[in-house]
Amino acid sequence: MGQRTEIFDLGRLSLTSGEGRRLELQVPVGGFEFGGQRYVVREDSVDAVLDVAHTTSGYSLRLRFGADLEGPCMRCLEPADHEVMVDAREIDQPGGGEELSSPYLDGEELDIAAWARDALALALPTQIICTDECRGLCPVCGENLNTAAPDHAHEREPDPRWAALRELRLE
Ligand SMILES: [Zn+2]
Ligand SMILES: [Zn+2]
Repeated sequence: MGQRTEIFDLGRLSLTSGEGRRLELQVPVGGFEFGGQRYVVREDSVDAVLDVAHTTSGYSLRLRFGADLEGPCMRCLEPADHEVMVDAREIDQPGGGEELSSPYLDGEELDIAAWARDALALALPTQIICTDECRGLCPVCGENLNTAAPDHAHEREPDPRWAALRELRLE
């Protein structure tokens, strides 16, 4: 298991142009809000692999990790966990313009915690659900349809306009 790291100083690797290094780091990620619900990453940090390559005048970086998210299923609200795999890249080439400048790199100090959080947010599925088959909640009474009787249903309220129409015809 790697060392818990929020800011990583690339300079201390003393890489020369064309050299690279692979590092295993523990990166704190914490919790976040998603779709109005609160999700946490189990153990609050992830085991990440950081590949650092020193290019001619800058750095090429790759960050990979898997995160176990815990929080409510967006359909039935029961606890759900979901594993998200993250594979992100950054290139920092001083003088190469905005496209080639990483927002997570200040000089040679890499804000790996901020990068990991943003990369995780981008890798999230559109919904976090307990299982693909989750049937959600009954829209009428709110009962969990995964555990409700298979024939769970409600009598349809007759439309009051039809009732009025029937009365009209009787006259
Ligand atoms: Zn569910
Ligand atoms: Zn119901």
